[in-house]
Amino acid sequence: MESLYIHMKNKKYRVSRATVYNTLELLVSCDLVTKHQFGRNMAQFEKSYGYKQHDHVICIECNKVVEFCDPRIHQIQTMIGELLKFDIKHHSLNLYGICSTCKAKREAEKKERKQRSNLN
Ligand SMILES: [Zn+2]
Repeated sequence: MESLYIHMKNKKYRVSRATVYNTLELLVSCDLVTKHQFGRNMAQFEKSYGYKQHDHVICIECNKVVEFCDPRIHQIQTMIGELLKFDIKHHSLNLYGICSTCKAKREAEKKERKQRSNLN
């Protein structure tokens, strides 16, 4: 983490320690990066190639699937695991709705129908 910060600083990226840390935490929570803790103040981060933890938003009209990753879901998983004494291995979360494309299409159709009824 510190070496990444120094590396970015050397490359003249305008970035704060907090930003680097928060980004790494986000990557860890999405299982894109694995955190190895060495002692209290030393941690090393490693790119992980395993299963990527993510959730889905699914359009009920065109069946489009959008992936997302939110660290809060990982936090809930950890909290529930501790609370119920469960060793939680993975989770799945699907949110169903209507995507922006389908919504726009619906609205256009509605408008067209209205216009047609006005002509009659
Ligand atoms: Zn759709």
